[in-house]
Amino acid sequence: MTREFSVPQQRNVVTELPGPKSVDLQKRRVASVSAGAGTLANIYMERGSGAILVDVDGNQLIDLGCGIGVTTIGHAHPEVAAAAAEQAGKLTHTLFTVTPYENYVRVAEKLAEITPGDFEKHSILVNSGAEAVENAVKIARKYTGRRAIVSLDHAFHGRTNLTMGMTYRPWPERAGMGPIPAELYSVPISYPFRDGLSGEEAAEKTIDYINTHIGASEIAAFFVEPIQGDGGVIIPADGFFKRIREFCTENGIVFVADEIQAGIGRTGTWYSIEHHGVVPDLVTSAKGIAGGFPLAAVTGRAEIMDAVQPGGIGGTFGGNPVSTAAALAVFDIIEKENLIAEAQRVEKSLWARIGDWPERFPIVGEVRGKGAMFGVELVHPGTKTPYPEALKQVITEAATQGVIVLDAGSWDSVLRIMPSVVISEELIDDAASVIEQTLARLSA
Ligand SMILES: *Cc1c(COP(=O)(O)O)cnc(C)c1O
Repeated sequence: MTREFSVPQQRNVVTELPGPKSVDLQKRRVASVSAGAGTLANIYMERGSGAILVDVDGNQLIDLGCGIGVTTIGHAHPEVAAAAAEQAGKLTHTLFTVTPYENYVRVAEKLAEITPGDFEKHSILVNSGAEAVENAVKIARKYTGRRAIVSLDHAFHGRTNLTMGMTYRPWPERAGMGPIPAELYSVPISYPFRDGLSGEEAAEKTIDYINTHIGASEIAAFFVEPIQGDGGVIIPADGFFKRIREFCTENGIVFVADEIQAGIGRTGTWYSIEHHGVVPDLVTSAKGIAGGFPLAAVTGRAEIMDAVQPGGIGGTFGGNPVSTAAALAVFDIIEKENLIAEAQRVEKSLWARIGDWPERFPIVGEVRGKGAMFGVELVHPGTKTPYPEALKQVITEAATQGVIVLDAGSWDSVLRIMPSVVISEELIDDAASVIEQTLARLSA
């Protein structure tokens, strides 16, 4: 299909980057905004369309990050804008748990349809990914009567007090901000590039760790990102999640797929757990669900979701009328514009364009990905030693040339590529050429 974009889908750098207006705004920002909210590139944005962002100085940048996987359908989609504007003019708040409204119910109905598993499913809507994860913890604890929560090494589950404890690395996500809540455990993941194990072997290692450190009967929930995002786009080997799922079933543990980053079409399926052929008990959704409006959800088996007493979960803004209107428009657009197939197209293009980087550039250890979610792991040549300094240079130099691309990985050494699924072949090629300049120089 041919799409209409309000901004030409081209990179166009007309000032130095950051430009003069960004530099001015940055001065005001440093004087007014907490330094704890760190920034990847201090280029201030004004508008966007499709895969292009336009900054305050009129530069057009290729967006390979989507604000960490949020604007999967493209920036400022006109139908999302129209749906949100219409809803904002009608009703912006009642609090669903005081007096409900249809949008919330429709989003829950849609989530029951698109999440894996053909059993009865119920949802709760909240504001952020971390809030969804926290609610999934509460629900699983109430349902099982157990307390221990397991997540995988290299996981990212959020920055609130509970979820920072489920997030793997200490720096910068939790250092100095404890105490960490009790009963949170990190267990080994399958990381094919680094452990060389089959999925089954890695799962046995994980299960052995659980049996010798925690005890299966203590565990309420096992949280997994089927494709890890911030952890470095780690895709566990085939068979890993299948065995973990069996282990959870055998031991009465709630299996939770945290699909906040990889879900909602990004990887060429509605949910990334589908690549592993596994059905979770609960699923969390957030980032890509509402085109940038704050909305998140926990969806899962009705008997688990209904275990909590009325009033035990919820919140003032959760499932806001405007955010849910935007989400309904997003679901509609994904289907109408075949965006799941578009994510598969982006995967093919990325493999064709950057799949040979490990052969061409000695600092590239591995390229991996599904759909529009790729990781490029940078290493010191001839080793698997992480090379974070190289990543930093790639990201900084790309930004100064008008390409926004993300970092990831516990050692800050994985380039994370997450464009909108409507990105053109031309933009993929142009952005790859920019990144290659730094890869080539650092490999020489
Ligand atoms: C971003 C993310 C979260 C946290 O979501 P927020 O909306 O930032 O709170 C949790 N889990 C995963 C997998 C994420 O990528």
